[in-house]
Amino acid sequence: MQIDQDQLTGKTTSHLAQAGEYAGVLHAQVVDAIRDLEDRARSEGFDLRIASGFRSFDRQLLIWNAKARGHKDVFGDNDEKVDMSVLSEIEQVEAIMRFSALPGSSRHHWGTDFDIYDASRMKRGYSVQLNLGECRDNGPCAEMHAWLDTELPRTGFYRPYATDAGGVSPEPWHLSYRSLANEYAGRMSIQILQQSWDGADLALAHVINEHIPRLYNRFVVID
Ligand SMILES: [Zn+2]
Repeated sequence: MQIDQDQLTGKTTSHLAQAGEYAGVLHAQVVDAIRDLEDRARSEGFDLRIASGFRSFDRQLLIWNAKARGHKDVFGDNDEKVDMSVLSEIEQVEAIMRFSALPGSSRHHWGTDFDIYDASRMKRGYSVQLNLGECRDNGPCAEMHAWLDTELPRTGFYRPYATDAGGVSPEPWHLSYRSLANEYAGRMSIQILQQSWDGADLALAHVINEHIPRLYNRFVVID
C-alpha cells in the first residue's frame, strides 16, 4: 500500500471509507476489523461506538490554536483547568500536547486510530467526555474496558496510550489498528511534520520549532 505525506499528516481523505454506524470515516483497510470488534462487543452485551475516527489537519489545527490562544480550556492530569497565563510558552506547548496532538502528528490523521465508548451504559442525554473517570470504577465504560483488557490481544487492535510514559496522558479509549498504524508511524518524521506546517497559521510555532526534537520524542514517538 502506498502511504503518502498527505495521508500521514491529515491532508487527504483518499485512504478513508465509511465504517458501520459511525458518521465519520476511517481507513478503508480497518473497516472490516472494526465491524468484527463491534460484533464481539455486542455478543458480550456492550454497544461499542466510535466517538472520533479520522481527524483532518485543519480540524487539529483549529483545536490546537483554540487552546494556545485561550479560546478553549486546557486541562491537567486531574481534569483541573490549567492557568495558561502563568506558564512559559514551552510549558504551554507541553500542557496542550499532554492531551492534544500537534497538527500533522495526530494518529487520528491516519484513519487507523479512533476513540470508543460504550453506548449501552450511558443514560439518555449524557454526552461522552472521554476521560479516565468514565473508564474505571463505576464509570459507564468501565465494564467494556475491563473486557477489552483481555479481548484486545485477540484482535488486531491495541491501546497506544495505555500507560503514562510522561508524554501523552493515558487514553484507554484510544484504539489503534496496530499493523497498519505501525506502517504509518514508521514513515513519520520530524521533517514531514514541519513541512505540514508550511503556510499554516500554527500558534506557538516558533517555540515548537525550537524544541521539536525533544517534543517529537516525548509526545509523538511511541515505543
Ligand atoms: Zn484518540
